Amino acid sequence: MRCGRLAAAVGSAVRVRARPRPRVVVAPLLLVVLAAALVAAAFGGDLQRVRLGKATGSELYAVLGEDRRVHVDAVPLQGEGLKAMVVRLCANDRVTAQVQAANGGVAALVRGARYRVPFALLRPELQIQALQALFPDDVPTAEGWRHRVVALEGAELDLWSVAEMFTGKGENFRELRGGNLLADERLEPGQEILVPRSLLLPALAGALPAPEPGSAPLTYQRDDRGEYAVYRLERGEALYSSVVVRFTGRIFAEDVNALADEIAQRSGITDVTDIPIGYPVRIPLEHLSPEYLPAGHPGRQAYERDMAETSSYANGVRSSNLEGVTVILDAGHGGRDGGAIVEGVWESTYVYDIVMRVRRLLGQTAARTVMTTRDGKDWTVVERDVLGTSRGHAVLTTPPYAIADARVGSNLRWYLSNSVFGKAVESGGDKNRVVFVSIHADSLHPSLRGAMIYVPGLLSNPSNYGKTGTVYSSRREVQEQPRVDFAHAERARSEGLSRDLARHTLDAMRRHGVAIHPNQPIRDRVIRGKRAWVPAVLRFNAVPAKVLVEVCNLGNPTDRRLIQTRAFREEVAKSVVEGLLAYYGVGADQLDRQVASKAAG
Ligand SMILES: [Zn+2]
Repeated sequence: MRCGRLAAAVGSAVRVRARPRPRVVVAPLLLVVLAAALVAAAFGGDLQRVRLGKATGSELYAVLGEDRRVHVDAVPLQGEGLKAMVVRLCANDRVTAQVQAANGGVAALVRGARYRVPFALLRPELQIQALQALFPDDVPTAEGWRHRVVALEGAELDLWSVAEMFTGKGENFRELRGGNLLADERLEPGQEILVPRSLLLPALAGALPAPEPGSAPLTYQRDDRGEYAVYRLERGEALYSSVVVRFTGRIFAEDVNALADEIAQRSGITDVTDIPIGYPVRIPLEHLSPEYLPAGHPGRQAYERDMAETSSYANGVRSSNLEGVTVILDAGHGGRDGGAIVEGVWESTYVYDIVMRVRRLLGQTAARTVMTTRDGKDWTVVERDVLGTSRGHAVLTTPPYAIADARVGSNLRWYLSNSVFGKAVESGGDKNRVVFVSIHADSLHPSLRGAMIYVPGLLSNPSNYGKTGTVYSSRREVQEQPRVDFAHAERARSEGLSRDLARHTLDAMRRHGVAIHPNQPIRDRVIRGKRAWVPAVLRFNAVPAKVLVEVCNLGNPTDRRLIQTRAFREEVAKSVVEGLLAYYGVGADQLDRQVASKAAG
């Protein structure tokens, strides 16, 4: 026992074993007698009592009862009946019977008498007022409610009581214990307990300051192993998706798993499937995505400079119905390069079908469509859900390249794209009326779902780059321009325009019910293992506005099932076309009209 006082000793002995807690802690007779003698008889046993609402002229008391629950004692206003008082304190009269029951079934109020209103029935503002009066050192923060344990005469609160008071459920003491790294349920006066936002009673959560828009609820600390960010897990969140994917940008299964292990180890988590809500997860700073670094960190400053520079570019060219616009359409992989292959589903097969559908839809606009690959002699949309695998794709260079090597297939696409772009501009075309759209599907950690879009980040510096070897030099497009070299300003502009196109495409996907990655759906690099890079079809591509759309994650069973349906592929195709229309200034209202007139026709 930590304390020599009789009451404390008895109190804690009862509490430690009583689960669930009895409503009233049995106090020794001696204490009751003493308390009755010392305190006004009517309030014997109250642990704390503070007057509230002096300003309003009404008489209210916030009370921490000996049952370690909070309630309010209220004196009726002049002429106030039970129902009126209940409305005043609880904001609705549906709880009248409960207030009545809490006061021995009283029907008519007696003037000057005090009536008990249980905490759970109180109006949200009164709940907050009562807690702040009883615990004046408590601080509502963006993270959650910081409760400072108060010293009570002859009694003490434990974690169960705190959980019950702030979350409505004593059982949440486990989450509080885990989240606050406590060894047991005992609390010392002065100790601070964070009750995380996601556990708090709704009224209390509503009183917390809102997190800054767009800011992550991270705090930063340092120990002998270096700097780290702290994230407190919320209800229903998992280490993989809510920490690793969200804050580190890792998405490939082996990366996510390895980093989750590292973070778990650093955070003292032994079972990643059973992390308490509010548990402080430690993310070493070197793994954070730049936007989550502390403000002022050089990495974050560099990121913000890049974003500021590229975001000054947005497409100002308007073209209703894509008049005069050249869309270079690229289906990822093909031929002997299946791309991601998961459970027999070939990326190359399904993304080619989506591109066929985009091409068909673009045929209803005024756009000129240039395809980078073809399977066989013709472009046809196969009206089947599950598609047969084909290895017949060729890149349409001159002469065409039947795709045997994935890398060559990829490089010849940007050569082809650069040739199309060069000719469009040479013939007096506007370089802002050429766009490049590549369609792929990912194979990522199975917890991830949805689409994401890669844009060429400034990080990639393709200065004076070209390929050698006869497979390249034998193609007319390579001969036209064997090497590329883009200036910084050109790349900044390209990133900005590409982000603009990506945003419009994602907006269209949302309208069409296509799932999107919850975190960073627009990415300017692929991060895998220790490497980060921009895909070659974007990096060496001279077209200013270019995106690589990963339409879904084949590693996720739901996404894998979806891509094997025509309906999903058609919705993706519509999103891509609407993204292009929106990029060229066709608003959603015009789109609706176009869609409606097409449906009517
Ligand atoms: Zn791919």
